[in-house]
Amino acid sequence: MKAYIETFGCQMNESDSERILYLLENMGYSKTSDISDSDIIILNTCTVREKAKNRLYGHIGNLKKLKDEKKDVLICVGGCASQDLKEKIIDDFPFVDIVFGTMNIPELPKLIEKRISTGKRICSIKEEGFDYNIFNVSRACKFKALIPITIGCDNYCSYCIVPFVRGREKSIEPEKIIKNIRELAGEGVLEITLLGQNVNSYGKNLDKPCTFSELLEKISEIENIKRIRFMTSHPKDFSDELINVIREKDNIVKHIHLPLQAGSDKILKEMNRGYTREDYLNIVENIRNIIPECSITTDIIVGFPGEERKDFLDTLDMIERVRFNRAFTFIYSPRAGTKAAELEDRIQPAEKRKWFKELLEVQNRISYGENKKLANKKFEVLVEGKSTKGNNMLEGRMENNEIVNFKGDKKLIGSIVPVTITEARSFYLMGELSNEKSAREKLVIGAD
Ligand code: SAM
Ligand code: SF4
Repeated sequence: MKAYIETFGCQMNESDSERILYLLENMGYSKTSDISDSDIIILNTCTVREKAKNRLYGHIGNLKKLKDEKKDVLICVGGCASQDLKEKIIDDFPFVDIVFGTMNIPELPKLIEKRISTGKRICSIKEEGFDYNIFNVSRACKFKALIPITIGCDNYCSYCIVPFVRGREKSIEPEKIIKNIRELAGEGVLEITLLGQNVNSYGKNLDKPCTFSELLEKISEIENIKRIRFMTSHPKDFSDELINVIREKDNIVKHIHLPLQAGSDKILKEMNRGYTREDYLNIVENIRNIIPECSITTDIIVGFPGEERKDFLDTLDMIERVRFNRAFTFIYSPRAGTKAAELEDRIQPAEKRKWFKELLEVQNRISYGENKKLANKKFEVLVEGKSTKGNNMLEGRMENNEIVNFKGDKKLIGSIVPVTITEARSFYLMGELSNEKSAREKLVIGAD
C-alpha cells in the first residue's frame, strides 16, 4: 500500500508530515511521490493567509477526478486549514474521506480503520490536548532533523490565526528533547532545527523551569551535532543571555530569524507584538556588538488595517537601518476570528501591492549587497542535494542560511565541505569547492 503526502506551509507542518508518515508506515504503507499510484492521499494544510486556503480548495477539487477513477483511494485532509474549517471541508468536498485536526494526528490510524470498516466519512477535530510521542517520525532527510520544542502559541498577535488552530503553547520537557537529539546524533544527523512559534518563551510552563538559552546550551554539548538552528525568535522575549550562548557555542549557527512584522510603533501596538521599534533596534545592536558575523532575517507584513504611508515608511526605514540578510514579506490577509479582522481597513489593495513592490525592491537591493560581501571568502557548507543550476552542480546551505551552488560529486551530499564564494546573486550564491579542511570565516554583516 502506498501513501502520498503533500505538505503546505511552514516547517511545523513539514515536521507533522514526518509524524504522519511514521504512523502510516507502521500500518504497512510505504511513501510514494506518484499520486496516481497511491492508496492514501494526505494533504497537510496551511491557513495562515487566505491565499493558502484558496489554493487548497483548488487542490482538493483536483482530486475528484482521481477519486472517480480509483474509488478505493482514501483522501484525507489534515493540518491548520482542517482545524479552522472542520466539517466545511467534508460538506464542500463529498469525495474527501477523512478530515483531521492538528491535534488529532496520533488518532489517524484509528480514523483510517474506522473509515474502511464503517464506510462512513469522518471529521475529527480536537480543540486542545497533546499526549503522544512527538519524536516518533519518519525523517524526510538523513542528515537534517526538525525538532519541535514547543507546540501551539499563546501570543495572539492580532492578525494571526495560529493560536486558534494550534492550541495553547506547550513546551516539551528538556530531557526528552536531549535524549532524542542524542539518538539523532548516533544516526548521523548533522543539523537540527529546533521549532516553536516563539522559541524564546520556551519552558515557561514546565514543572522544572528551563529557559531556551539553558536548553540550547545543553543541546550544544551533544557530540557530533554540527549545526543547531532554531526558529522562530520573538523579539518580545529575546534575551541577551541567548546572544551570549549563540556566540560561545561553535555548533549554534550564527543566524537569527527575528520577525519584525512592522516598523511603526502604532502598527506594532495594533498587532499586539509587545515591543517597539526601539526595543527591536536595541536587540539588533546587541546582536551586532556581540556576534558581528551573525545574519539576521525577518518577516514583514504590509498593509495591516490602519497602516498609513508614514507607517509603511517607518518599515522601510527599519529595513535600511537593520540591513536584514533576507526578509519574508507578506501582504496582510484578514483571518476570520482574529482581532485584526474586525478592524477597519481603508487602504486599497492596489496601494498595498505598490508598497509591497517597493518593499521588495529595497530588500532585494540589501540582500544582494549583503551577499556581495561574502565574495572570495570561504565558508562551511552543508551539501543538501543536486542543484538545478547545471549538470554536476550541487546545492548547499551556509551557516547563515544562504544557498550556495557549486560543482561537485554527488557523493558529497550529506557532508559539510569548504566552499569559496565566487559570485553573489540576489537570491543565492555561486561558489567553488575548496580543498582546505577548515572553512570557518567570520562574515561581517551590517551597514557598509
Ligand atoms: N511565530 C512566528 C512569529 O511570530 O514570527 C510566525 C509564524 S507565521 C506562520 C509566519 C509569518 O506569517 C508571520 O511572521 C507573519 O509575518 C505572517 N503572517 C501571519 N499571519 C498573517 C496574516 N494574517 N497576513 C499576512 N501575513 C501573516
Ligand atoms: Fe502568530 Fe504571533 Fe504566535 Fe507567531 S507569535 S504564531 S505571529 S500569534
